Amino acid sequence: MEFKKSEKLYKKGLKNLVGAVNSPVRAFSSVGGNPLFIKKAKGTKITDVDGNKYIDLVLSYGPMILGHRHKKVQKAVEKALQKGYSFGASTENEIKLAKIVCDAFPGMDKVRFVNSGTEAVLSGIRLARAFTGKDKIIKFAGCYHGHQDALLVAAGSGLMTLSLPGSKGVPEGAVKNTLISNYNDLESVKKHFENDDNIAGVIIEPIAGNMGVVVPEDNFLVELKKYLESKGALLIVDEVMTGFRSKFGGAQELLGVEADITCLGKVIGGGFPVGAYGAREEIMQEVAPLGGMYQAGTLSGNPIAMAGGIATLTELKKQNPYKQFEETGAILEVILLETAKKYNVALTVNRFGSMLNPFFVNSEVTNFVEAQLSDTKKFAVFFWEMIRNGVFLPPSQFEAWFLSSALSDKDIKKISKAIDAGMKKVA
Ligand code: PLP
Repeated sequence: MEFKKSEKLYKKGLKNLVGAVNSPVRAFSSVGGNPLFIKKAKGTKITDVDGNKYIDLVLSYGPMILGHRHKKVQKAVEKALQKGYSFGASTENEIKLAKIVCDAFPGMDKVRFVNSGTEAVLSGIRLARAFTGKDKIIKFAGCYHGHQDALLVAAGSGLMTLSLPGSKGVPEGAVKNTLISNYNDLESVKKHFENDDNIAGVIIEPIAGNMGVVVPEDNFLVELKKYLESKGALLIVDEVMTGFRSKFGGAQELLGVEADITCLGKVIGGGFPVGAYGAREEIMQEVAPLGGMYQAGTLSGNPIAMAGGIATLTELKKQNPYKQFEETGAILEVILLETAKKYNVALTVNRFGSMLNPFFVNSEVTNFVEAQLSDTKKFAVFFWEMIRNGVFLPPSQFEAWFLSSALSDKDIKKISKAIDAGMKKVA
């Protein structure tokens, strides 16, 4: 397998792009290589500029839940393109997508569309502060909520991949209202409330996917919500990754918990830049133009993105692939574990439905500290062998693998063979 054209573009890209990428994990630096440049993708496959074809388990870090270029999505977007790209005024499709989203999440009477998950969360947090009149927000170590200043503390995703404790350029003042608790540890949340009556709420990834996949323990979210209610604080559920992926109604539907504020991204745009935050009526009343919490966006509710989102969610609802996700995910989990056993490789697999990933460690991974025990050098070896065997994985130990509804039995067989080769190389 050759990467000559990717290498060439990488060198060219370095001149005007930082690390030749526009998002740090794409640089492949933690797996000791240079980025692959992609030419095209269709269905479950992605093809690089050298013509190497891979089964794609990155799926643009989640959004491509139907696989690439699903024909209904493509058609809807092409149709929208004929009418104009951006108007800076309302369109009927914004109302349509809002209804689909609000119907899926019972805790959302109203929603506001933005352009990314980062924007969804920073607005959701502002809203929590506006509604409660309090300043502080608790986040969990290892969770990632986008690159806004206040939440780049003990964050997963790219920071964890690059072993960064936080981000340079974030002033102390920007994080002074951010408190950290441990995932799956309600006591660590309670401790903050014992010393502080200025806490607006807690933000959580309901199924963490940015320190690798870390699953909430039974009833963790339900208990958390109950506790927060008793304190008059809000539960902000960051469903940017899990929304419409764990279930149509997100992780909340699956875990039996209702957020006060929900943040969405990724799947709701089906590959186009859409984020959203929403809540029940009394909370959303705070948002301008009704209330005094200001938030705006030149491209928010963009007609092309709305068309992509509507087509994706409509098709997703029709396909209802959640049982299939569970079955396919379980098969991959077993393949990973059995193959690791065959080659005597220490491995823990965390999975929730169609999000999974292996940690190269023989102890369980339930939080940020335990996730960091994984042998990232082994992951790097495994990663490149998967690439050489035609499977595109996130180039980081700490990013989730995603499944699409397009994945076939043939794809699973190919992934299985690649896993065998990967584990053999690691052993
Ligand atoms: N929240 C979560 C849970 C995420 O996984 C991400 C991105 O990976 C974000 C927020 C930020 O979203 P975006 O990258 O669209 O800004």
